[in-house]
Amino acid sequence: MKILLISPKGPLYRHRGGAFRKNLRYKPLTFPTLASLVPPELNAEIVCVDEGIQEVDPGLEADLVGMTVITGTASRAYELSASFRARGIPVVLGGPHVTLVPDDAQPHADSIVVGYAEDEWPRLLRDFAAGKMKPRYTQDRNLSLANRPLPDRSVLPKSRYLTDDVFEATRSCVHGCEFCVAPSAWGRVPLQKPVEDVVADIRAKGAKRAIFVDLNLISNRAYAWDLFTALKPLGIQWFGLATTLLCDDIPLLDLCAESGCRGLLMGLESLSRESLRSTHKAFNNPDDYGVVVQRLHERRISLQGCFVFGLDEDESDVFMKTAEFAVDIGIDLPRFAIVTPFPGTPLYRRFEQEGRILTRNWELYDGQHVVFQPAKLEVDELQQGLETAWKHAYSWKNMMKRFRKTAAPPHIALVTNLGYRHYAHHLDRFYTCT
Ligand code: SF4
Repeated sequence: MKILLISPKGPLYRHRGGAFRKNLRYKPLTFPTLASLVPPELNAEIVCVDEGIQEVDPGLEADLVGMTVITGTASRAYELSASFRARGIPVVLGGPHVTLVPDDAQPHADSIVVGYAEDEWPRLLRDFAAGKMKPRYTQDRNLSLANRPLPDRSVLPKSRYLTDDVFEATRSCVHGCEFCVAPSAWGRVPLQKPVEDVVADIRAKGAKRAIFVDLNLISNRAYAWDLFTALKPLGIQWFGLATTLLCDDIPLLDLCAESGCRGLLMGLESLSRESLRSTHKAFNNPDDYGVVVQRLHERRISLQGCFVFGLDEDESDVFMKTAEFAVDIGIDLPRFAIVTPFPGTPLYRRFEQEGRILTRNWELYDGQHVVFQPAKLEVDELQQGLETAWKHAYSWKNMMKRFRKTAAPPHIALVTNLGYRHYAHHLDRFYTCT
């Protein structure tokens, strides 16, 4: 049996080349995980195509096609699916978008997988081999991540990515931010791989630097404590995601640094307490963002700090205020996005009730386009303001200002900032679907 797995491209990858061609992209874990779950008795040949790095050959042959879909790539996935199905090749769709709005995906596939793949993907494949594939497979949320096979990273070429030392310890998040896909798609009970499995994966890979893709590594403090303790003797450097709450917990933060953490991505989201409260992220305190940066830098941890624009309290001065603030407090790599009401989230439902959803063209649901009517801004103002913030934070002058405070090694700070500067000044080329 030949299985073709595709990650369809979103608007970002229509523009080939530039900063995101290789420099800032790491190998995704989805295909290695899906490949490892294919039942061995099927003797399947697995071919993976990541459209972020290569186009799908429309004439490719396969017995079964599987695609992982986020909202921004749903249109492309449906288009590809139609072409494979027209040639008589059955298509399975799964991933966050399918999990959030299964009925949107169902008509475009022979079968869909709702939720994580761990039990249902192998079940689907066995059913397919027996000629009895069902139209929908729904993963029980109470699954265990213990005793799962290690991801098979060989299914994607190493040379096309910045690194394939990419790992996962946990899934989902305990918080319920209104705009976030995670709690709606997978619930708020975080799943955890046994710490020894995570360590075994890192050891087997021989990684000296690791990227954790977990949405929030500190969702469960006790688990985070055990994980950081187990990472310490490995002597690696690692990068991951956490919430600002880590910086309120000095013992955990110290251990995090001692375990080799050198960079974290945090969703700071907004400087408005009211916006944070109304989007259920009140645990972020903008008055403390400077302290967050300071505590991280004291421990040689750099910060990729993410802000969103378009929350209900945002007015026309929000863009420059936020970008100036990010520069002033010395965020190593500031990032800006437009808040996106992904279908299936509480934010989408609220905007829908308020009649504020402007388009259901999923291709525009990429964090860079305005797809709803903002409360106190015009649509164009919000779209333009995003660009203003990026350009301000990544002007030569402000990059130099941030360099003086950065916790990152100079060569890493330079390469990443130049990459983001290029992106900041070519937003219109990276996002071409308007
Ligand atoms: S803290 Fe982050 S990952 Fe968790 S729900 Fe909020 S936005 Fe999502």
